Amino acid sequence: MNNKTRVSVVKCKSYNKISLNEAISRCVSLLGGFKKFINPQSKIVIKPNLFLAAAPEKAVTTHPLFIEAVIENIIDITGSSKNIIIADSFGPAVPYNRTGMEKVYSTTGILDIAKRTGCRLNYSTEYECLSNKEGRILKRIEVIKPIVEADVIVNLPKFKTHNLTVITGAIKNMFGIIPGFTKVGYHLRFDDFESFSGMLLDIVSFIKPALNIMDGILGIEGEGPGRSGTPRRVGLVLASDDAISMDIIMSKIMNVGKGLNPFLEVLKKWKVESYTDSNIEVLGEKLSDIMIYDFKLPGNIGKKRLIENNFINTYILPLVRSSLNPYVYIDYNKCNLCMTCQKICPRNSISYSNNRIKFNHRTCIRCFCCSEMCPEGAIGIKYPFLGNLISKLLGMPDRLSKKSKTSGI
Ligand code: SF4
Ligand code: SF4
Repeated sequence: MNNKTRVSVVKCKSYNKISLNEAISRCVSLLGGFKKFINPQSKIVIKPNLFLAAAPEKAVTTHPLFIEAVIENIIDITGSSKNIIIADSFGPAVPYNRTGMEKVYSTTGILDIAKRTGCRLNYSTEYECLSNKEGRILKRIEVIKPIVEADVIVNLPKFKTHNLTVITGAIKNMFGIIPGFTKVGYHLRFDDFESFSGMLLDIVSFIKPALNIMDGILGIEGEGPGRSGTPRRVGLVLASDDAISMDIIMSKIMNVGKGLNPFLEVLKKWKVESYTDSNIEVLGEKLSDIMIYDFKLPGNIGKKRLIENNFINTYILPLVRSSLNPYVYIDYNKCNLCMTCQKICPRNSISYSNNRIKFNHRTCIRCFCCSEMCPEGAIGIKYPFLGNLISKLLGMPDRLSKKSKTSGI
């Protein structure tokens, strides 16, 4: 049996409509065609990269004509656009509210695409907190409503560098399913490159896109993923049903050296062996013909943390983290001292003294594994006043009012 994952790569020089349609359609047909991934009755979410309110030529966001070409291919299968919605939660610099959405949709050109194709645009700010039992470091994930309700997610990332994770493609694009300002909390909780990359792998393994099609026509090199990066013509379209494999191939094209792709390093640490070179098949272009040996990588590459200042990391970050993020607390009446929580805590943040369990909130990364695993339901989660206040000021709904689900998509 062939257990290989597959990534197809096709050349495409410009956003010219005919070239785009041909390249996208050929790239996906190498994997079996859109029909293989799209059921005509499905609720489909198109998940582009709408990181900022930036014009298409800045290369920060998925090009609107690329999105349109994908949607047209999907409509060929579904016969109509009525079950298709375009949704993303932007970078924390843009408020995740109606005003922020309108600004991003009009600046990035998505508004015109929605009008032309008849697809809906997401204007809801609702989200749900889902339980991710299989997650290695992230047991609860806040997810925007359109993604929770989707049958099929078509992930449309951009070919870019990232000054935190070195690369940002299909894996990191799924961070956009976390609602607005909540993302800041994730950054604070997972504040070194390893845990942040692991958290992203948990997200993309939990909410798995059915199909990933990457806009690699105009990419970003250097200090991506935003305006500090430099647009660079790459001239490629990539497709895969496996987001992780797609990003591994993207990083090879970018010539990211051995040991410098943080996702691969985390997978190695987790002893996930399915992402070796021999397990990923590249279709279409030959990898050696399309590698870009002088692609500029971010200056932070190889570092362990974004901020390498001991004082900030030891005193300031934990303070900010605990002021904004939800935290765990214990109901001593329910606790029977089974010590399950202490055994599974990835940061050794749970201690036992004076016949009681205690949390070290300074080292706790708010993964909530202990809360998920406690057999007595003795560990609860509270939201701090400041975090809730900021969320409200930014127009986000109250997190406490959201219900939890116990299964993934
Ligand atoms: S897992 Fe629950 S019951 Fe067991 S020690 Fe921890 S808090 Fe107490
Ligand atoms: S104390 Fe609980 S929430 Fe904090 S790191 Fe440990 S398991 Fe995760």
